[in-house]
Amino acid sequence: MSELDSAASVGAQKTNLLGLSQEKLEAFFTALGEKRFRAAQIMKWIHQLGVSDFAEMTNISKALREKLGDVAEVKAPEVVQQLDSVDGTRKFLIKVGGGNVIETVYIPEGDRGTLCVSSQVGCSLDCSFCATGKQGFNRDLRSDEIIGQVWLAAKSFGQFAPDGPRKITNVVMMGMGEPLLNFDNVVDAMNLMMHDNCYGISKRRVTLSTSGVVPALDKLSEVTDVSLAISLHAPNDEIRDELVPLNRKYPIARLLESAQNYISAMPDAHRKITIEYTLIDQLNDRPEHAEQLAALLQDVPVKINLIPFNPFSLSNYKRVSNNALRRFQQILIDRGFTATIRTTRGEDIDAACGQLAGQVKDRTRRSERYKIDAAAFVKSNSDEIPVRLIN
Ligand code: SF4
Repeated sequence: MSELDSAASVGAQKTNLLGLSQEKLEAFFTALGEKRFRAAQIMKWIHQLGVSDFAEMTNISKALREKLGDVAEVKAPEVVQQLDSVDGTRKFLIKVGGGNVIETVYIPEGDRGTLCVSSQVGCSLDCSFCATGKQGFNRDLRSDEIIGQVWLAAKSFGQFAPDGPRKITNVVMMGMGEPLLNFDNVVDAMNLMMHDNCYGISKRRVTLSTSGVVPALDKLSEVTDVSLAISLHAPNDEIRDELVPLNRKYPIARLLESAQNYISAMPDAHRKITIEYTLIDQLNDRPEHAEQLAALLQDVPVKINLIPFNPFSLSNYKRVSNNALRRFQQILIDRGFTATIRTTRGEDIDAACGQLAGQVKDRTRRSERYKIDAAAFVKSNSDEIPVRLIN
């Protein structure tokens, strides 16, 4: 039995074309006995026009459309809930099977609209300041589930309509999960974001954010040249060991070396690494910490993004005071750095990563209180959400 016959046989799982790269789509059509250019046609239908029904793909012959209907599908994950903040931030809770949900957040800012995309269901790295880390790890997202977040968001904004608004101008792989621990699927999805037949987002506007999986970062420049952000959050290894346990394996010096190697491999000069630094009251927000950070980064091409910690129920950390935040920023500016403060967005919808999904599912049974929060969330939001609160 051929691959095609096998796929078409009763009960066989259909191939989801949503997350397939151009190369994989070409291989798919070749296996069907079709020309490779069909891949480009399908990519445009799916990612530029938002069409998921083969019957609507009118420049494809009826026979091929019927054949596709037998062996393939275009299937995005399902939005469980969409939350809109008064400040324009939009959050999607997306069902990914097994009672799990992930989060995708859209943040508008002037003429820019940034979509924060998740790469894993939960996260294994357990950073102490992170709501996602408190949920434990469930699984990697497939490429269709990653690009599906962009597809769903674009659809919700009417971006696929002729002359529809181009709302998503930037994507950051900064949602739930560590993207470099789901390397191949994340690279495939990012390539679709940037592809001219898909969303056509420039490589400077697609950013991968990592907490420091150095071996994978060492390989990244071989397959992509997207922008890079490092979740640093500390000016020295002692503090970072507490905030980002992965630091004990790959300390700051090794991480910065790998990040610089990545940037150096870029064909275009003047690329900078974004340093993310979450300020937590009394932990990493003092003037001496700002001085240490400036010394640490003095020879690294960076821009620094200061993020006030957003408290959540499972963490005892406190939000930085406005005075400490401004003082920290000023020290960095005085040392010649570009240092911006990320304003808190979507507070009314718990837009910080992992906050809301965490209320839906606590995989690690770390808090009885959390279970009660989750039960209250599910009860008050929908009888239909098929979540298992605890495994
Ligand atoms: S900060 Fe990122 S890497 Fe760390 S636990 Fe949260 S999602 Fe994982």
